[in-house]
Amino acid sequence: MSMGRRQDLFRKLQARTGVPVLVLGGGINGVGLYRELALQGVDCVLVDQADFCAGATSKSSRMIHGGLRYLENREFKLVSEALIERNRLIENAGHYVAPLKTTIPLSSWFGGLIRSGLIFAGLNVSPGERGVLPVKLGLMFYDFITRKNRRTPTHFLTSKAESLRRMPGLRRNIVATATYWDAWITQAERLCIELIQDAQSTNPNCLALNYVKPQGLADGAVLLEDRATGQTAAIRPKVLVNATGAWVDFTNATLGLRTRFMGGTKGSHLVVNNPALHRALDGQMVYYQYRDGRVCIVLPFLDKVV
Ligand SMILES: Cc1cc2nc3c(=O)[nH]c(=O)nc-3n(C[C@H](O)[C@H](O)[C@H](O)COP(=O)(O)OP(=O)(O)OC[C@H]3O[C@@H](n4cnc5c(N)ncnc54)[C@H](O)[C@@H]3O)c2cc1C
Repeated sequence: MSMGRRQDLFRKLQARTGVPVLVLGGGINGVGLYRELALQGVDCVLVDQADFCAGATSKSSRMIHGGLRYLENREFKLVSEALIERNRLIENAGHYVAPLKTTIPLSSWFGGLIRSGLIFAGLNVSPGERGVLPVKLGLMFYDFITRKNRRTPTHFLTSKAESLRRMPGLRRNIVATATYWDAWITQAERLCIELIQDAQSTNPNCLALNYVKPQGLADGAVLLEDRATGQTAAIRPKVLVNATGAWVDFTNATLGLRTRFMGGTKGSHLVVNNPALHRALDGQMVYYQYRDGRVCIVLPFLDKVV
């Protein structure tokens, strides 16, 4: 966007003192809400302190998944909803979202059954490797939920011999592999930009600007600063939404609220340039759980491997 057009937008923002909803944070949650409100005819303003999707949304593993492992925690509703949304994305955003064949190497038939049972019963047990039976049960649930709107093939099990023939690089102590389909997204950032454009073409009274950040509250108004020019705007929203992801507590502090929603979890991505591994994966993801419970995934990403 040109600087002149951006300044026009900021001037529009300065003129809009009252607004039904102000959304802080332009990751997938803020953008999704912005679009949803726009489609419902609610005028709203969306601002991000950096580029849209500068946060976790552009740094995710890019899986669009139902969340197989959440089934153990009895999150049936969450997984069902995520699977339905996954299928909607495959359907509506096929230019970015595609089915992803996923293989799980399994090193026992019944391993993890007791542990999974205890977790299922609500006990605080750390997860570990799961065998064929618990994984099979989870995948049957996956297929059952999507039976009426199937967008991906159903799961299947493969014997040890056949699995090693197809993927010779797998470790030798497996008893079988399970294969199912989730989905992945190539460019989450572009999808978000399309959602913003969609919102604005549906409801031209909505306004989205990046490099704008809240400075605090003054007389019931939220002071927003244009980080490109230093200009400010005072907005009085009826509803203020803090969708700033991992920054939620910092943003609240700026607004005079002390919160501690964020804890400490961490995910790391290693991107390797390994053509042999890329070829061995043959377009599919391998999903496995390390003995200490950490979930690991290996998937091709463009010409590299994550
Ligand atoms: C390593 C890792 C891998 C993941 N992999 C997956 C995956 O494969 N599939 C999946 O579905 N999910 C995955 N997730 C989770 C997913 O990325 C997040 O749930 C999702 O992106 C969160 O979106 P969000 O909009 O809440 O936050 P974010 O995308 O972080 O957006 C927050 C936005 O707020 C802005 N902001 C911050 N402070 C302010 C402020 N004061 N004012 C204005 N704006 C501000 C930031 O610039 C940012 O753009 C993963 C997460 C991690 C950490």
